[in-house]
Amino acid sequence: MDHKLMLTIPGPTPVPEPVLLAQAKHPMGHRSGEFCAIVAEINENLQWLHQTKNQVITLAASGTGAMEAGIINFLSPGDRVLVGSNGKFGERWGLVAKAFGLNVELVEAPWGQPLDPEAFGKRLRADTDKTIKAVIITHSETSTGVLNDLEGINRHVKAHGEALIIVDAVTSLGATSVPVDEWGLDVVGSGSQKGYMMPPGLAFVSVSEKAWQAYATATLPKFYLDLGKYRKALKEDSTPFTPPVNLYFALQASLQLMKKEGLDQIFARHDRLKRMTRSAMKALNLPLYAADDCASPAITAVMPQGVEAEKVRSVLKKRFDIAVAGGQDDLKGKIFRIGHLGFVSDRDALTAIAALEATLIELGAEGITPGAGVAAAAKEILAAS
Ligand SMILES: *Cc1c(COP(=O)(O)O)cnc(C)c1O
Repeated sequence: MDHKLMLTIPGPTPVPEPVLLAQAKHPMGHRSGEFCAIVAEINENLQWLHQTKNQVITLAASGTGAMEAGIINFLSPGDRVLVGSNGKFGERWGLVAKAFGLNVELVEAPWGQPLDPEAFGKRLRADTDKTIKAVIITHSETSTGVLNDLEGINRHVKAHGEALIIVDAVTSLGATSVPVDEWGLDVVGSGSQKGYMMPPGLAFVSVSEKAWQAYATATLPKFYLDLGKYRKALKEDSTPFTPPVNLYFALQASLQLMKKEGLDQIFARHDRLKRMTRSAMKALNLPLYAADDCASPAITAVMPQGVEAEKVRSVLKKRFDIAVAGGQDDLKGKIFRIGHLGFVSDRDALTAIAALEATLIELGAEGITPGAGVAAAAKEILAAS
């Protein structure tokens, strides 16, 4: 059956009809007053979403573009940086920083486990000469479903005083609270196809006053991703280059929907979806890859025993038109990942869980009590209401 694809991957995520329809218009001139009014509204709502008075800059890029912008605007060749690495996206931070000639010190944890804040604290306290220019981490590590302790790590960065905190919040923003001003987060990057309930194509970078001071002396080369150009244009509710105007229409609509739902409600919904998914997996005897106390609100990684992860994925797709993600790198074929990020409701989670049960039964998995996953998820709905 056509048009029934259910996206249960951690991005691109499902898009609500009002957002899809908002794009189905002729593009408008990006220097028109009409478009500037949209930019002004978007800017205000992005600040609301980031809980900040800082500028939030919109780029025509995927999330990695926000990561690159987060490095090249605030640092100089040879700068010493601590990079947290406990998954694919932490590794990517390291690769981006190395590509631009930074002096990278990895602070590692095994995949599936959270970064240890004290590992950062130790290095930061030892740095009495203040040579560490930035601490760079991934908040929600999408490859493993681990939520890193951003607040705990940031506390050590604040005690250091000099280093910037640069955060990949691509699958945490819009899923759990990322209070940029309260925590004093300097650079926070995200992407439209994750928590924004939008198609791919836009990236966002929130920049603190302290980061702008670093920008003034940073010498890495930049042009298209030079955030100073965007800051200047934003003062006139504009953009330095032609933006993807139809994606701006979509962003305007999605931010309006998010405001209507409310931040607390959005976070509560993601917390509930996480609990529903995790309780269901436990009831189905499916081992979870990340522990409860560091579980991402956006993505649950499952390491099945006795059935092949890739077979689970292929039956879910063929029989039910449900796409779940596989593992990356070493985890390829070992895990599958259920996304519950953005435009996802309790009903969607129940559907995915029910389909997974049927899939496991079809594949002859042992220890499956039909209905146990759905029952466990329904219990979490009741507990949250
Ligand atoms: C999706 C994602 C990104 C960005 O990936 P793009 O493909 O460039 O959009 C970065 N970090 C995390 C944690 C992600 O989940």
